[in-house]
Amino acid sequence: RFGTSSAAEEVISPSVQVSYTKLLIDGNFVDAASGKTFPTLDPRTGEVIAHVAEGDAEDINRAVKAARKAFDEGPWPKMTAYERSRVMLRLADLVEKHSEELAALESWDNGKTYEQALTAEIPMVARLFRYYAGWADKIHGLTVPADGNYHVQTLHEPIGVAGQIIPWNFPLLMFAWKVGPALACGNTIVLKTAEQTPLTAFYVGKLFLEAGLPPGVLNIVSGFGATAGASLASHMDVDKLAFTGSTDTGKVILGLAANSNLKPVTLELGGKSPFIVFEDADIDKAVELAHFALFFNQGQCCCAGSRTYVHEKVYDEFVEKAKARALKRVVGDPFKKGIEQGPQIDSKQFEKVMKYIRSGVESNATLECGGGQVGDRGYFIQPTVFSNVKDDMLIAQDEIFGPVQSILKFSDVDEVIKRANDTRYGLAAGVFTKSLDTANRVSRALKAGTVWVNCFDVFDAAIPFGGYKMSGNGREKGIYSLNNYLQVKAVVTPLNNPAW
Ligand code: NAD
Repeated sequence: RFGTSSAAEEVISPSVQVSYTKLLIDGNFVDAASGKTFPTLDPRTGEVIAHVAEGDAEDINRAVKAARKAFDEGPWPKMTAYERSRVMLRLADLVEKHSEELAALESWDNGKTYEQALTAEIPMVARLFRYYAGWADKIHGLTVPADGNYHVQTLHEPIGVAGQIIPWNFPLLMFAWKVGPALACGNTIVLKTAEQTPLTAFYVGKLFLEAGLPPGVLNIVSGFGATAGASLASHMDVDKLAFTGSTDTGKVILGLAANSNLKPVTLELGGKSPFIVFEDADIDKAVELAHFALFFNQGQCCCAGSRTYVHEKVYDEFVEKAKARALKRVVGDPFKKGIEQGPQIDSKQFEKVMKYIRSGVESNATLECGGGQVGDRGYFIQPTVFSNVKDDMLIAQDEIFGPVQSILKFSDVDEVIKRANDTRYGLAAGVFTKSLDTANRVSRALKAGTVWVNCFDVFDAAIPFGGYKMSGNGREKGIYSLNNYLQVKAVVTPLNNPAW
């Protein structure tokens, strides 16, 4: 139990209890077949929040069987699209109704601030389900003007049982990005949550049942990657796989899919996104947005602006102001008012970020501020800024996934385009300039799935998101995500009447 009235007045979240800790299979919350559980931890302290069912291969089998039956026998894919859309709309209303509990649970399990979860993420989850509810009855094929005396039409059919594997950094938002389009198209689902953050998906699973989703349509299995995740990726009766997580795991997943039934795979992977500040930019705004682009969500964003390129003429001023802003960042208990940054997700990520900070110092980047732990329990890290970062340093090449800003210097447009693209990733980029010509030129030259011009992290259910290069393949959100969950069937019929 957290956030009771005995806590300090500044605590702004409601009290919340963990009610759902079992696997959701075929419309029921059930124990893992093995009876095993694993603890999910509070990143503020490392203490156990709850013990959760540990699904593995046998549970994935049970869940896939339920999803297969719900797909083959219905009613979900055979219900009218309007009816499917109404279930999703009811779910969106329920998410809003329970937004305070959901935000508190998300914050507790993940360490993100309650305010962020409540004002940004949970509303986006409801919005996303409404957006895809709107698509459900607008998915249709074409008539094709083929040569010869034929009537040719395309049918856009659901693909079948979708396997979905999600990460811990935005647990419920990633859940929504995956589940929304799959349901709108009439698929059934087996979703595996990240082992660090299993709690909110179960809660929304319960809300889905309340909204009228038939049993077996959405099955949720908590468990580990190498067991539950790998079984899902290699399952012979899963028709499509969608994965969000690290690039290394993405490679493993692709191999498992290829070596089983060759199911199509969409991948949303890591990034090392450039944030480019030209000399004519409004420096104060650019400093604030560069800070937000990197430090948002404790720096645990796949699209974090983690290579801040600043023109040499404004470099010193920018570094000074970026340092001042980082020093002002409020780190602390994510349930309290005014806190901007909570703890990293777990000890593994904490150690990884600290290792990169040491690497930055050893490679002679200038540590402007931060670099240490905040407090002596949990996984809080000081907002950290490095200047004089060079492209070949590890902190400029690897995804740190933590509150560490790296500021690099450039002197002209061609040079910065080349350097920004010189990475194995290609998820996102930011361009800061008052010149329309520079903005147009650079945004077209960057090899990234999203380019934000004079803004950053603008998300909307309708805007597609995804990566170039080793940041993944396929797009989520918007109209594009529907393609991930549809088969196109061409039906060709001779027109035998010569009069036609
Ligand atoms: P991860 O790859 O370790 O885990 C992601 C998910 O994959 C978890 O559910 C995990 O259990 C599962 N998994 C791990 N090994 C597996 C295996 N062998 N087979 C099947 N499943 C397996 O990543 P993470 O550390 O949890 O998440 C952080 C990473 O995710 C970062 O690299 C980040 O950039 C990326 N990410 C990308 C996006 C995007 O949209 N592009 C969004 C969020 C996070």
